[in-house]
This record gives sequence, C-alpha cells and structure tokens, in this order.
Amino acid sequence: MTSPSHQAFVPFVSVDHMLKLVLHLGIERVLIDLAAEIEADFRRWPLFDKTPRVASHSDVGVIELMPTSDGETYGFKYVNGHPSNMKKGLQTVTAFGLLADVETGYPVLLSEMTILTALRTAATSAMAAKWLAPKGSTTMALIGNGAQAEFQALGFKAVCGISEVRLYDIDPAATEKCARNLAGRGLRVVACKTAEEAILGAQIITTVTADKQYATILTDNMVGAGVHINGVGGDCPGKTELHRDILLRSSIFVEYPEQTRIEGEIQQLAPDHPVTELWQVINGQATGRSDAREVTLFDSVGFAVEDFSALRYVRSKLQETGLFTQLDMIADPDDPRDLFGMILRAA
Ligand code: NAD
Repeated sequence: MTSPSHQAFVPFVSVDHMLKLVLHLGIERVLIDLAAEIEADFRRWPLFDKTPRVASHSDVGVIELMPTSDGETYGFKYVNGHPSNMKKGLQTVTAFGLLADVETGYPVLLSEMTILTALRTAATSAMAAKWLAPKGSTTMALIGNGAQAEFQALGFKAVCGISEVRLYDIDPAATEKCARNLAGRGLRVVACKTAEEAILGAQIITTVTADKQYATILTDNMVGAGVHINGVGGDCPGKTELHRDILLRSSIFVEYPEQTRIEGEIQQLAPDHPVTELWQVINGQATGRSDAREVTLFDSVGFAVEDFSALRYVRSKLQETGLFTQLDMIADPDDPRDLFGMILRAA
C-alpha cells in the first residue's frame, strides 16, 4: 500500500530524458534558471549540511560522493574524475544523483548527472562571474575545449552577456569540435593556437583542462590587471592549473573552504591564506571585486549544494515535461515489517 506521504516508485530521469529536457526548455534558459536556483541556495547557505566530498583516489582518478541537505530534502551526487579516460575513448567525468525526503528518508528522484553536472558547473561559473568579473565584460578566453567547454561558453553568454569566446586546447581537434558546436549560437568564436593568443583582450579567463598533475595553464605574466579568472579544472588533490604567483596576487573566492583547500588551486598556498566565501558576497556580508585593477579568481571545485540545486530544478520540471520513468526502487511491502513475505508472494 502506498501512503499519501511517500511514493513507492521513484521518478528516474535518464540521459535521454535530460537531453530532451534541455532541448525542450532551451539550453540558455536552463543555464539561466540553474544560475538563479544555485544563487538562491547560496543565499541560504548556512542552513545546509556541509561536508567536503568523500573521495576515493586511485593512481588514475577519483570517485566521489557529494552529499548535502537543507533539512527538508537530502541529496547526493556520485561523480568520477579520470583524466586518462580520454585516451581510452571514455569520458573524464560521469555522474548520477539522488534526492530524498528527509521526513521519510525515501528517495524522490534519481537522475543522470553527467550532462547536469556540465550545466550546473557552467551555471555556477557564470553566476560567480556575475558577482566578480569586471562590469560589461564582453570577451572570455576558454582554455580546455573538452566536454565542459561549450556549456561554459553558453553559460557566460546567457548569464553574463559575453559576446566573444577565444578557444585554446593542446589538442586542436578539441578546439575544432568546440568551435563547430558553438557555431550559429550568437557568439563570436575565435580558435587560437596558443593560450597567450586566447587571452588577448579577454576580461574573463576560464581554465577547464583535465590533467592529473600540477599543471601551469596560466603563468603569472599572462594575467593582466583587472581580469577575472574562472578556474574550473583544478579540482582534485595534486591537480591544479594556475601558477602559484597568480594566486598570491589574486582575490580568491571559493565555494566551501574546507573542501577547496584540499582540492582547489589554493592547495598550493598556506592553509590560512585568506579566501572569501562566495555565498557571503552574494549575501552582502563580504566584498566582491573592489577595484578595476584587481585580479579576481573563482577557485571552483564544484560543491554539493550546486548539485542539490540542479536536482531540485530537474524535479520541478517533471510534471511540466513528463520526461521521466517510474523506477520500482523501494521494496514497500504491504505490511512494513513483512519484507520476507514479499519474496513468498512473488514466487
Ligand atoms: P575533458 O577531458 O573532456 O576536456 C579537457 C580538455 O583539456 C581536453 O580537450 C584536453 O586536451 C585539454 N587540455 C589538457 N591539458 C591542457 C593544457 N595544458 N592546455 C590546454 N588544454 C589542455 O574534461 P572536461 O569534462 O571538460 O573537464 C575538464 C576539467 O574540469 C576536469 O579536470 C574536471 O575534473 C573539471 N571539472 C570541474 C568541475 C567543477 O565544478 N569545478 C565540474 C566538472 C568538471
């Protein structure tokens, strides 16, 4: 028997549903909506349960769980990061996530999150840049043209009004793919041969490369005064993208310091190096960019609250779109104590 307080079946949003959801709503609208949802949850940041993600590292990558709760709803994401997968024809990042009702503990949504992670990461980056980048920014360098890249470009177009993206990747095929996918979307797309060329005239620099090592995608002399850096690819112990000297002259903004100090660019700095929490800027409790010559860095690693916001957004669209199937995922016996009897009756 299904009581009105819970559902025996759990809505499941597959990859196919997610693709159709994005096409149905329009990718820029989804990015704008997600940025608004994430910003709204950052405003109520103190009430979330927060913990650095639970990571299981190996020589080739990491598998992580990212849980949080706002007291009414609980959520987690399972996500991997395997830079070497690309050589095997596999993706670097794949994910799925779940929401549950805190009152009963019953799951209320299971969803693919590989595509949703790319959307939420771009929405978070663009939302942060709305607060931190120079006002009226028009041009973004996009270094690393892999799976996340187009989402980042369109997020910055939709949320921040960027009109030009300058692409660079060590693999020209990635840049070609990215330029092709972005064609006809209202962005001026410039394919560049070096990172130096990509940053020419850019007020915003996004680094979104994948390499499991301390890499130096940007050196100090490449970063001019007044630039906003959106550092996305350094998100794991031993995996960074920016030269330490850039960090030393930047105002650094983070999601959750306890996690970013382990995983972000700031793992290169002393554990007490000052950083500002983005939610405090949004809430007016801390200053964002304070002058035109300041270099701001959003040291993005991806935090559980962003996934929670994204999953709740997907859940809010289920009725409107019908894009889900019902999963028979909870045993739910007629008599809650007669779990064994379910097996007997199924025979
Ligand atoms: P991907 O493997 O699809 O693409 C990475 C690209 O970086 C590749 O095209 C590769 O050729 C390029 N690259 C590697 N080294 C480079 C260099 N030195 N200069 C220029 N380009 C270089 O990976 P993806 O899914 O696009 O993810 C990119 C990174 O973003 C990963 O490290 C991933 O872990 C991270 N990520 C972070 C968040 C977050 O919330 N911060 C979310 C998702 C992914």
